[in-house]
Amino acid sequence: MTVLVPTSLDEAIAGLAANGGATLLAGGTDLMVEVNEGHRHFPWPDDGATIIALHRVPELATWTYDVPAATVVLGAGVTWATIEQPPLRDLVPALAEAARTVGSPQIRNAGTVGGNLATCSPAGDGLPVLAALDADVTLLSAGGRRTMPVRDFMLGVKRTALQPGELIESITVPVLQGWQGYSKVGVRNAMVIATASACVATDVPSRSIRIALGSVAPTVVRCPVAEQFAVERVDWDALTVDAGDAVEFGRLAAAASRPIDDHRSSAEYRRHAVAVMAQRLLQRAFPGGER
Ligand SMILES: Cc1cc2nc3c(=O)[nH]c(=O)nc-3n(C[C@H](O)[C@H](O)[C@H](O)COP(=O)(O)OP(=O)(O)OC[C@H]3O[C@@H](n4cnc5c(N)ncnc54)[C@H](O)[C@@H]3O)c2cc1C
Repeated sequence: MTVLVPTSLDEAIAGLAANGGATLLAGGTDLMVEVNEGHRHFPWPDDGATIIALHRVPELATWTYDVPAATVVLGAGVTWATIEQPPLRDLVPALAEAARTVGSPQIRNAGTVGGNLATCSPAGDGLPVLAALDADVTLLSAGGRRTMPVRDFMLGVKRTALQPGELIESITVPVLQGWQGYSKVGVRNAMVIATASACVATDVPSRSIRIALGSVAPTVVRCPVAEQFAVERVDWDALTVDAGDAVEFGRLAAAASRPIDDHRSSAEYRRHAVAVMAQRLLQRAFPGGER
């Protein structure tokens, strides 16, 4: 087994082009679990496999705030520990809330947003937030760059649009002007994989309300019917919503989910959890309405 440790993006891309089947390694918090559980195999001493470790590629570990475009561009290697702290916490608060729920401090120091997206687990905490914020992902290979909505990148359970020879270079997240938040239900309060999760993001100037759900379908679900309902019912001058409308918003969100029964939860509980989370998130976004 060969391990390449590039120190620039060009070097990483050259290594990937020369080793088409190479496995990328960022923080290793998903990959090493897969190896330990026998889902990925790297027989020793030498099966010809190549690992490309990305942690020393500075371009991937940095982020920028493009003020005129009102976007934050996150390198794929930006860690959850960076995202949960200011200044990113103030620019993309829902992503910071999701970051705070990922594993433990040790996992958040190693685990990256790009690794979360590339794994594309139905329970990945970053994914509903990126979908709700209408983030784009930029993929890079020796052949060039392509950018697509995160929602189109996620194809199914641990399936993405990433092609051999490509890596995730960055994720571009719009900075909205309105309340946004993330909720997660699990079997305990910390170090827990989501049983169901939801992100609500609002943009007051454009009168936009988005909701995306995690862990209740093979991949993230957006809820256009619930979104449209909320846009029409919210009082945009007072920034309030009536309690009954918030309940209906929750019902519509739950109706858009496609949960299954599994070892973590029943489908029925997941649907109930989505309804409660969506209702509460909308009421946090638009407080002060009649309850
Ligand atoms: C104890 C524990 C608790 C956890 N808790 C949570 C949790 O609460 N919520 C949650 O969402 N996740 C959780 N995870 C999973 C994991 O920490 C996250 O998904 C993390 O963001 C993965 O990032 P990473 O950098 O470690 O990825 P890695 O493990 O390095 O890589 C994951 C996958 O992404 C690929 N990859 C990495 N970087 C790139 C890139 N730039 N381009 C293309 N492909 C790439 C790798 O080849 C691999 O297939 C937990 C893991 C552990 C071990």
